[in-house]
Amino acid sequence: MSSIADNIGSVTRRIQKATLKAGRSAGSVYLLAVSKTRPADELRTAYSAGQRAFGENYVQEALDKMEELKELDAIEWHFIGPIQSNKTRQIAEAFAWAHSVDRLKIAQRLNDQRPPTLPPLNICLQVNINNEESKSGCALEELIDMADAIEEMPNLSLRGLMAIPDPDQPEAELRSSFRKLANALKHMRQEASGCGPLDTLSMGMSGDLEMAIEEGATWVRVGTALFGPR
Ligand SMILES: *Cc1c(COP(=O)(O)O)cnc(C)c1O
Repeated sequence: MSSIADNIGSVTRRIQKATLKAGRSAGSVYLLAVSKTRPADELRTAYSAGQRAFGENYVQEALDKMEELKELDAIEWHFIGPIQSNKTRQIAEAFAWAHSVDRLKIAQRLNDQRPPTLPPLNICLQVNINNEESKSGCALEELIDMADAIEEMPNLSLRGLMAIPDPDQPEAELRSSFRKLANALKHMRQEASGCGPLDTLSMGMSGDLEMAIEEGATWVRVGTALFGPR
């Protein structure tokens, strides 16, 4: 049986190897430990092994863990689940990042509710890259207008784009989904450069992080490969 610390080691090596192979600079890809459904003790174990950034999908579950782990310095909380309007205040108050902003109404609420004593909330726009009816995410065509509007929101820092392409599609299609997201970010840098750092591509999970890194991922979101099956 492998431990969480061992798993962090092996995922970190996978990231390093893929980063090198892609000709990218060491340290340019960050590991987000996706800890949804996992108990606070397991996050504490990961923290002891050096992990600082944790991704959560459910607001109340995350707040409970934050309370249990509040003595851990420099732990960084990322919200990655679907965002309902009635949850924006808690997200704005408790998280450092929200990767899953998919409409302006949500961005506006997060901006209005972010306490001015905190640094701006880092956000990514979630894109529905495979145009699936059921999936959340905005359309590629909406991105520039959304970025222009977010430029007027001082309590948000627009870091880039996030997607959850269907990991079960054939490899070539998965790669093309990652590439589409990377190209969309490049396009935003040209057309909406005043909107924020635009330095982030949140894509790749346990099974496909190498391919995502080859296509430009800067955050890979990894759950199963660290904590085991949910
Ligand atoms: C659960 C989840 C992940 C992690 O997926 P694994 O396959 O367990 O690595 C990544 N991103 C999002 C948005 C998730 O909900």
